[in-house]
Amino acid sequence: MTRQLRCDVLVAGGGSAGIAAAVAAARRGARVLLVEWHGTLGGMATAALVHSVCGLYLLREEPGAVPANPGIATEFAARLIAAGGAVGPVRMGRVDVLPHRPPMFALVADRIVAEASGVQTWLHAAIAEVACTAGRVERVVVACRGERAEIEPAVVVDATGDASVAALADAAVEIEAAARLQRPAYVVLLAGVAPDALEGERRLQVAHRITSGIRAGRLPAAARGASLRATQVPGEAYVTIDLEPPHGAPYHPLDPSCLAALEVHGRELAFSIADFLRQHVDGFGGSVVAALPARVGVRESRRVVGERRIETADVERGATFPDSVALATWPIELREQTTGPRLRYPRDARPTEIPLRALRAGGVANLFVAGRCIAASHEAQASLRVIGTCLATGEAAGIAAALVAQDAGAAGDTAALAALVRAGRGDGVLPEPRAPVRGGASSARQGDRR
Ligand SMILES: Cc1cc2nc3c(=O)[nH]c(=O)nc-3n(C[C@H](O)[C@H](O)[C@H](O)COP(=O)(O)OP(=O)(O)OC[C@H]3O[C@@H](n4cnc5c(N)ncnc54)[C@H](O)[C@@H]3O)c2cc1C
Repeated sequence: MTRQLRCDVLVAGGGSAGIAAAVAAARRGARVLLVEWHGTLGGMATAALVHSVCGLYLLREEPGAVPANPGIATEFAARLIAAGGAVGPVRMGRVDVLPHRPPMFALVADRIVAEASGVQTWLHAAIAEVACTAGRVERVVVACRGERAEIEPAVVVDATGDASVAALADAAVEIEAAARLQRPAYVVLLAGVAPDALEGERRLQVAHRITSGIRAGRLPAAARGASLRATQVPGEAYVTIDLEPPHGAPYHPLDPSCLAALEVHGRELAFSIADFLRQHVDGFGGSVVAALPARVGVRESRRVVGERRIETADVERGATFPDSVALATWPIELREQTTGPRLRYPRDARPTEIPLRALRAGGVANLFVAGRCIAASHEAQASLRVIGTCLATGEAAGIAAALVAQDAGAAGDTAALAALVRAGRGDGVLPEPRAPVRGGASSARQGDRR
């Protein structure tokens, strides 16, 4: 039997953006349905074992991390730290990051969502169909193991990471050419690593041993995408392996056969690397693969074509917008190859304002978008995709959705709606850009992988 349900705000996807959207909308009195197809909230930050929150702090030279987005991003970080799920922030080169433990990210997400009375969460459930009439989402079908539910939402927030609601609603979407898409990665957790095995210079030595192992034929060439980082828990380390699909196949993050090949390839590589480390690298003799991700990590897939696309030049100059609702502070981090990131910093370390127009799917009045699939160019997305920024755009989209659910007319004037969103976050005015970083826009390769 098909269930039927009405809600004010349907949030599709329970990653960083979806969590923030659901909580923000519920705190403004909306009845929210949060739909997530994994058994945990957190998206990439939990299911793909991504283990650092970036984009939480302003870029600045001086020591001391300054939160970029007051509101749920800052609150979530504080709660992670308080729960023992993160230690930091930590300065890495020119940026401040918050290394986190994915299981604790999931727990904090559960708690913050549960405390926001008004959110009903459905896990193991997928958005399957979207019906639109006259430029409005009227009905959304949610599927769970052969059962269907028909939802009539006043407003929808697409936080699927893949702009799936927008695509199902026939709103305009885009995707970068396969060869340029940011490469996916497979992340595994090792346990039983000696405490000093990755300390200081030894981390570089491990990278060198992996390269030598490839040259000697002990490791497949694809292991060159691997990097290791110790966690805050003694004996634990993450291995992150940037991947190409095997056998020279093109990469397509929305193709199930490509995703299956990546999952299998990632696991094979992870166990080969773990065996190699155990046999050939000091400090890894007692190590084992302790946890696999629930899914391969996808950095970039489909994006919505919004009312205003955030362009590469916007990020490079730290653009300002009259309908700004959040700040992005992370440099453009390109990972188009598996040989490591290329970072490009904005001029004068200026943050980029994110306009509400980039969170609106063109042509669908009651559809907002949040997280890594907002309207942005391929390179701009390489800055905006980080978790801290996804939390911030999620919060903005959630507040906007709640306001439009209360008064459909509010959707008509984006600038006025953005002002209400800013006021609704409690900060009213976004923080001023802080002290400039020397050198202006620049490219750099970084041994430190994220
Ligand atoms: C390997 C890797 C390393 C990274 N490193 C870092 C880092 O160090 N720091 C950092 O800040 N960022 C990092 N990122 C980027 C960051 O993790 C993601 O961009 C960010 O988490 C995206 O959040 P999101 O909420 O937009 O999307 P996601 O986290 O992808 O969440 C989307 C959610 O929607 C759900 N969903 C999708 N479709 C449906 C559907 N039809 N029905 C129901 N649910 C659906 C998914 O299951 C998922 O839970 C990394 C990413 C990867 C892949």
